[in-house]
Amino acid sequence: MTNTPITCRNFYAGTWHDGSGGVIDRANPATGELAAVAPRSTADDVDAAVKSAVEAFRTWRKTRPAERAKYLHQLADECAQRVDDMASAITREQGKPLNEARGEVQKFVTALHYYAEEATRVFGRTIPNDAGGFLSIVEKEPIGPVAGIAPWNYPIELIGWKLAGATAAGCTIVIKPSEHTPGCAQVLSECVAAVLPAGVVNFVYGDGSTGQALVAHPAIAKVGFTGSVATGQSIMRSVTGITALSLELGGSCPMIVTKHADVEAAVKGATRRSFRNAGQICIAINRIYAHRDVYDEFVNGLAAAADALVVADGIKDPAADVGSMTIDETFQRTLDHIADARERGASVVAGGGRIEDLSPGLFVRPTVVADAPDDSLVMREETFGPLVGVAPYTDLDDVVARANGVPGGLASYVYTQDTRETFALASELDFGNVAINNVDAGIINAPYGGRRESGFGYEHGPEGLESYLHLKHIRLHHGAR
Ligand code: NAD
Repeated sequence: MTNTPITCRNFYAGTWHDGSGGVIDRANPATGELAAVAPRSTADDVDAAVKSAVEAFRTWRKTRPAERAKYLHQLADECAQRVDDMASAITREQGKPLNEARGEVQKFVTALHYYAEEATRVFGRTIPNDAGGFLSIVEKEPIGPVAGIAPWNYPIELIGWKLAGATAAGCTIVIKPSEHTPGCAQVLSECVAAVLPAGVVNFVYGDGSTGQALVAHPAIAKVGFTGSVATGQSIMRSVTGITALSLELGGSCPMIVTKHADVEAAVKGATRRSFRNAGQICIAINRIYAHRDVYDEFVNGLAAAADALVVADGIKDPAADVGSMTIDETFQRTLDHIADARERGASVVAGGGRIEDLSPGLFVRPTVVADAPDDSLVMREETFGPLVGVAPYTDLDDVVARANGVPGGLASYVYTQDTRETFALASELDFGNVAINNVDAGIINAPYGGRRESGFGYEHGPEGLESYLHLKHIRLHHGAR
């Protein structure tokens, strides 16, 4: 494993290219050392990458599903050889501990194998006509060249779902990684270069202006976006309503711990899903409502579990529980949300701020605020940091209204061992994902998507491939009776 900064270059038409708008430096958020240098791509660079995807689409769309499956399995094997390279790049630019970064890359490899298999399971249908001698055939065809725009929190997986779903469907793709995590994408592009035909998967680096040029490009047939609500709204304006679009956006995810919960299990789940990846997960638990009868036991357990987490530089301590946060903006927002909760009368029962000993790294102690009022920022907005608010409740209908009472609807969590509560909450929580007595809301073979301000469209599962297909109705007059 090397400490040398990674030099990224745009990758399209099967070769590497410099960008024409200068470069963006990316520093390791744990140490401030340079981690990667990437092109700041202009609209001309984007145009060249899209042309490569358009050209490759002519042939890739016609490859047989079994052949695409073979390519994707090969890409998975190639990436499996580079797990450590990709993982160390992730840790050095994103901050999560090395073992966790290895887990992310391994999940991406699994996703590639999964979509290799799904590629061979795309079927159309036939529809009998009222008139004799006619048959309607419905075929599914790849939609065209795709733009995949990803954030920094799971920089390989979130590129990976788009890459795997789109190419399995027969689409080509231009990927714009986050400006905060270009280095791991460079390693991925090297795997792509070793396996796939030129132009099938392309990479352009840059910030939001590069992304904007990409999503607005007239030859792009579909945009697959994961990121913030604000950027999602901006992209909806850029694509002018003609390009197909899926938006996986943020949100504030609630957890309900009922009086019938296994409190120990709930504490374990809450600790994992509030603080893993320093809380920088779109489905992180932001706010917890615990029934008054189990409230003290739950809060005390969660505070103790948060205090026990090891926070460290994820390269030096690969098995740390929590690493550095990734960017100044969410680091500051986390501190602001803690200060706001304090001002509104909540009690900080674990953590409470920056770890000064690890400065200038962006390290925040996992923080639990108890008795957080409903109008405090931590209970209303996505923090995207290692902070969780807890509040008591007594009435189930009331807590459902509080859980649903935010603009987004991505994931929600419940701990209960009561059957009636289980089904009532599964039905009433207005979120795309409801995890009950566990906190792993997303699995690769089930659809994953948000509601309301958390976006629309699905990744994972067959739906994550279908979203790159469109339908063709062929009405055939064959004349047979
Ligand atoms: P972001 O919206 O700032 O950036 C995401 C990507 O969009 C980056 O590559 C960025 O360069 C690009 N971008 C920025 N402006 C653009 C524009 N005008 N046009 C096109 N592209 C543009 O988000 P972030 O800070 O990187 O990620 C954090 C957010 O992502 C959080 O809100 C989180 O909840 C969300 N997220 C959602 C999911 C999900 O599955 N729903 C998963 C992970 C993260």
